[in-house]
Amino acid sequence: MPDPMDLVQERVQRETDALVASAARATSPGATACVVADCGEPIAPERTALGARLCLDCQRGAEARNAHFARWGRR
Ligand SMILES: [Zn+2]
Repeated sequence: MPDPMDLVQERVQRETDALVASAARATSPGATACVVADCGEPIAPERTALGARLCLDCQRGAEARNAHFARWGRR
């Protein structure tokens, strides 16, 4: 009969492995094309290498939105 603690540890190990795998994907270089669904503009290789996932236009839009939310956050 298996020890219940062994089963728990095995499950935790599997979940940890999955988390590590997804973290590795998240830190991989950015996209080669804009990830915005209705955009898809190509991204320059040097920006992809820096982890960019948005084209310049969408990046500017996202930063403008973030600045807007930051202002609201301070009220
Ligand atoms: Zn874009």
